[in-house]
Amino acid sequence: MLWVGTSWKMNGTLASARDYASRLRDALADGAPAGVQPFIIPPATALAAVHDVLGDGSPVLLGAQNAHWADAGAWTGEISVAQAADAGAALVEIGHSERREFFAETDETVNRKVRATLGHGLRPLLCVGEPGAVFDAGGSVDHVLGQVAAALAGVGDAGRVLIAYEPIWAIGEHGREAHPEDLTDVFAALAAEYGDQVTALLYGGSVNQRNAAETLAVPGVGGLFVGRSAWQVEGYLELLRIAAGLAPVPGR
Ligand code: PEP
Repeated sequence: MLWVGTSWKMNGTLASARDYASRLRDALADGAPAGVQPFIIPPATALAAVHDVLGDGSPVLLGAQNAHWADAGAWTGEISVAQAADAGAALVEIGHSERREFFAETDETVNRKVRATLGHGLRPLLCVGEPGAVFDAGGSVDHVLGQVAAALAGVGDAGRVLIAYEPIWAIGEHGREAHPEDLTDVFAALAAEYGDQVTALLYGGSVNQRNAAETLAVPGVGGLFVGRSAWQVEGYLELLRIAAGLAPVPGR
């Protein structure tokens, strides 16, 4: 199964979220493409609306972009994992580099959030990745393995965890597209260490409709986590089609 999803970050309105969701629902009325698990991560304000539009039993999983480790309390501005689940989320994105850089997310808070998410029966989508200077110095594998080990500390069963390797130098409008050979060492290390423990290893960072297939061909890559290229529903559907063409066929 290839996991292919998008986070909309802090973009859109309720109207645009409903429009995207209804087009996606209609396009996938017969189910998700074989071998592909779609997921979308709207802003928290649109989570419930998107869930309503997609409907119960949708093949598209919903996620929250962040959630606090506490179940409730005096944490102004935060939402809890339970609240995210109540609004329809099945997974929680944790540790994106923007949250680590701009919102003081640390390995420790990432770990707390991973454990809280698992504790509520949701899937953590754990984001890890190194800055460009670390990549240039050849330190990517150590950096990424260190982040994953910290995030999973004390987690007995990581079977519901998704790991997204998102090198900071590759994501967003100032990122540079990774070449497949830039990714092989990290995915080899992640696959060796965690491949049989977690649900899937995803890649994210300037993925688009042109480079998706070659990215999915990197050994160990089990899905794509996409920003800009999936913010229009047609772009996302195209990525799902590309993944479907590469997904393992059951029984073969
Ligand atoms: C991201 O920011 O996590 C991301 C993958 O974005 P993009 O695809 O736009 O590089």
